[in-house]
Amino acid sequence: MIKKPMMFGMIASLWSFGLILIWTQNPLLQGFLFILVTTLSIVTALTLNERYQKRETWHQEQLEYRLSKTQEAEEKTHEQLDTLVETLSSGFMLLDYEGVFTMANKAARDLLQKLTVKQETIQDLKASKPLYEAIYQSFIAEKPQRHQVRLGDLTYDIQTSPLFQAKLFMGLIVIMSDITQLKRAEQFQKQFTADVTHELKTPLSAILGSAELMLRHTHMTKSEHDEFLDTIFKEAKRLEKLIADLLIISKMDRIDYELKKTTVSMPDLIKECTETSQSWFANKGLAFTELSEAADLLIDKDKVRQVILNLLRNAAHYTDQGSVQLKGYIEGAFYRIDVSDTGIGIAKSEHENIFKRFYRVDEARSRDSGGSGLGLSIIKNVVLKHQGKIEVTSERAQGSTFSVWFPLPAPSHR
Ligand code: ADP
Repeated sequence: MIKKPMMFGMIASLWSFGLILIWTQNPLLQGFLFILVTTLSIVTALTLNERYQKRETWHQEQLEYRLSKTQEAEEKTHEQLDTLVETLSSGFMLLDYEGVFTMANKAARDLLQKLTVKQETIQDLKASKPLYEAIYQSFIAEKPQRHQVRLGDLTYDIQTSPLFQAKLFMGLIVIMSDITQLKRAEQFQKQFTADVTHELKTPLSAILGSAELMLRHTHMTKSEHDEFLDTIFKEAKRLEKLIADLLIISKMDRIDYELKKTTVSMPDLIKECTETSQSWFANKGLAFTELSEAADLLIDKDKVRQVILNLLRNAAHYTDQGSVQLKGYIEGAFYRIDVSDTGIGIAKSEHENIFKRFYRVDEARSRDSGGSGLGLSIIKNVVLKHQGKIEVTSERAQGSTFSVWFPLPAPSHR
């Protein structure tokens, strides 16, 4: 095939030859010039042709290089996408238009394996009825759907979405997300709201009932009158305490809640608390002793004061005779505070429950104390927020010891 530069060379030599013929009459010179011009033209044409071919090859190489780079980038994107899908915490599956599994990531494979479901066709899902129903409905209807299903002890959100190509059903995408924690939190919140409503209603009903009786019975004796007034006062106080504790809880439940930490001398703080609580023990004729080892801690002083006071208040309230003792001392990397009493004690089976919100072992006694049933749950929350811990040692009628641990500052900060 004659390339473009070769053509130019030939045309140029023909033109040159024509011009020479017109310009000179000497046949010898004509012959010589003809050979010269033709040779030059051919050499020029060949040189141009070689250059042209080199450029062509260079262009082709460039194209091939770019193509390979694009392919490489595409393969990399594919690989990244595969890794992303494979490592997703949600289960991801693809079914084709015949209901055959074409893909399932690790989370999906693990879940199906746990449910002892094979992963070949949609029919295999029958081994787990709720999962099969959630997916099959969408597959048959060729419509996106969303279901919340219980799979074993977990709750899953199943999202399905059909795939179409030129309006033709090609298959189904299935995404399965574990929402157990979310459901638990939702349930916990619902229960808490119900408990709060109940707790608020009880003192409010007592206040309203007493006030109504006082209004209706105008000829009450002084002692009857005082009794109703006393109830109103006590229940209003309880309401006040409940609302105050609820406010503390709602503040501490916030994600952005932060302790206001300062360096605090523990013997000083303990002394402050024992001074406040002296009268609680004295009023009940209980002996009280306190012993505290020197240490400076980086803590939220107000919150830790609340912890110590709450433990002392409970000890006073749930002890009818004997004594209460407070001991503060260094134990390993912690400062430990023990509040021990010789009171009614707590059965072992209740130990876990008493730290739950509104849980009371002895409902009547707790109400009588004006307690909200939130004290220990607040204490536990404060202690955990300080990276500490809390434990109870107790038996029914054997007294109780509540122990809290707060971390000591790192040696370089002491
Ligand atoms: P409350 O306001 O009812 O005292 P808390 O959360 O402080 O609420 O305590 C929860 C429950 O734990 C109490 O109702 C009580 O039954 C039990 N309890 C707490 N401290 C003591 C204690 N020192 N001795 C015996 N029982 C206790």
